[in-house]
Amino acid sequence: MNLPGRSKGFMGSIMVVDLSAQTIETQPVSLKVYRTFLSGMGLAAHVLYHRIPEDADPLGPDNMLGFVSGLLTGTGSLFTGRWMVTGKSPLTGGWGEANCGGHFSPAIKRCGVDGIFFTGMSPKPVYLYVDDTTAQLRDAGSTWGMDTVETETFLSARYPGARVACIGPAGERLSLMAGVSTDQGRMAARSGLGAVMGAKRLKAVVLAGNKRIHVHNKEAMKHISRICNKWVQFQPPFLPGFLTAPVGTLLRIMPWAFTQDGLLYKILLRKWGTVSMNQISVEMGDSPVQNWKGSNRNWGFFKSLSAHPDLFTRKETRKYHCYSCPLGCGGICRTSGRHPRTHKPEYETVLSFGGFVLNRDVDTIFDVNEALNRAGMDTISAGHVVAFAMECFEKKIITLQDTAGMALEWGNPEAISWLVDQMISRQGIGHILADGVAKAAGRMGKKAQRFAFHAGGQELAMHDGRNDPGFALHYSVEPAPGRHTNGAWLYYEMYRLWKKVTDAPKMPLVYAKARKYETGPDKAAMGSANSRFLNVLNGAGVCQFGAFMGIDRIRIFDWLNAATGWHMTPDDYMAAGTRIQTLKQAFNLKHGIAPRDFALKGRPAGHPPMTHGANKGRSIDIDTLMADYWEAFGWDKKTGRPTDHQIAEITDVS
Ligand code: SF4
Repeated sequence: MNLPGRSKGFMGSIMVVDLSAQTIETQPVSLKVYRTFLSGMGLAAHVLYHRIPEDADPLGPDNMLGFVSGLLTGTGSLFTGRWMVTGKSPLTGGWGEANCGGHFSPAIKRCGVDGIFFTGMSPKPVYLYVDDTTAQLRDAGSTWGMDTVETETFLSARYPGARVACIGPAGERLSLMAGVSTDQGRMAARSGLGAVMGAKRLKAVVLAGNKRIHVHNKEAMKHISRICNKWVQFQPPFLPGFLTAPVGTLLRIMPWAFTQDGLLYKILLRKWGTVSMNQISVEMGDSPVQNWKGSNRNWGFFKSLSAHPDLFTRKETRKYHCYSCPLGCGGICRTSGRHPRTHKPEYETVLSFGGFVLNRDVDTIFDVNEALNRAGMDTISAGHVVAFAMECFEKKIITLQDTAGMALEWGNPEAISWLVDQMISRQGIGHILADGVAKAAGRMGKKAQRFAFHAGGQELAMHDGRNDPGFALHYSVEPAPGRHTNGAWLYYEMYRLWKKVTDAPKMPLVYAKARKYETGPDKAAMGSANSRFLNVLNGAGVCQFGAFMGIDRIRIFDWLNAATGWHMTPDDYMAAGTRIQTLKQAFNLKHGIAPRDFALKGRPAGHPPMTHGANKGRSIDIDTLMADYWEAFGWDKKTGRPTDHQIAEITDVS
């Protein structure tokens, strides 16, 4: 069914580029597809489920790579500049997705489409150029070999005002830790999709369209945005960074927990960005230390102060905002390292190259941050690999002979920078390590496998499931496993979904902390609500940091109706979230994934439990959490398989 009249909120079509045949086609998308799966990630799941054959090699011509924008992007709503890259992940062999802010998302829609999908493989390096009258594959020979910043600078000079997404050397060299970069080094980093782009010899996507994005009710959009913005603008004038560590200590030692209010997180985020969480997370036991061996106590992070948020913002020369964001958590920093300018490192990067490898040298964190952004490589995964290599060196699985004499000792800043460079260039031991911990351990043998921590091949993020079991559940149970953005009990509290969604369990203001570590139907309902709501956010292109302020304050469901004119209830949108989750799970089953294989194993799940520190004695009952979660979706409790009827219902939509 094609759209009658003008599309509202969405553009009504996708662009499909066959790199083998060098053809470009615009294809209509039916209203039914949008109402069933929204846009963004949901639209991508619909397209990729049908078009990637089950035996497709992720790095072969049959894989399809999609760049999608959100349903709310460009509609006058706030926090709606997220774009997503999707495809079959070469890391997990299943559903792959990565998400990024910046200014690329509206650029997709201004080219008149909601997504651009690439299939096939180009015989030589190319980039796609699109404006209002042209869509062409052009020779990228002169940019092949450039890093992400050089590539974007070069293409932006050639096409002033255009927005660019590109890969760096990591993607060209098919590192399975490669991502896709926009805005001079902001990364859609996870799932190894930069390697898919490299395998297709697609260096960049350059978008210069100026098409209008229509909405159903412009005045209502403005009105809702004005109300939401009031919550964003509330900010206390004075907030010293040294207070963040004691806050974390307090959260750790209290026997009860407060239901977290995301307004408090917004205040920290607006002042420092995500580095505001460094000390809080380390102190409370949220941030894993030394390759998941420990948490707060066994490192003395507080004493070293190298996680202090002011250490990072002190180097900030300017703050920046993503498209349509009134908050602005990003920053550009000036450093004394190899690259004088870099993005302010994110929390995930600081902790991956801080506590996780026992490094206390802030300059090294800035240095590897820029090196990895320029290479187009995931900082979370790269930090995991460095920690894995350091533990293997400690256990004599890697020796000085393997490292040309470089001692991979914990916390050695020289060794950290050296290893990162080796992985980017795929030289020496870097060639073994450049595809992530699972592949590296597979190449190094059984002894090394004990120290490789991942979910289904994807390195885990810097949030400890032994502190918040919601992280452990979502690392394990999601079709794209291992990432912190999928959900946690903390996120559930901040979303405040019970204010609008009928089946979302209400949280009390205060509760005994021990409740967090229990399993049961309420946890299954919280986990399923997290996943369904994130699918709505990713369908709409909304930044999670905005959503953390609560659904009654950042009124996403109201924006969606005002943009589209659909009059759907919050429960209707959550049902769309269920369908997207089911479709992604069906994608994995089609590609031979056994969902249970993504379950966390070993240290990150508390097996064996730690004997000291914030998470002492905690083991996560991951099997029960996963089974209950699947049951909440009506899927098979043992296998995670949706019913045939559920799969048929969503795969028949066209
Ligand atoms: S809160 Fe930060 S990441 Fe989110 S849209 Fe705003 S600037 Fe971008």
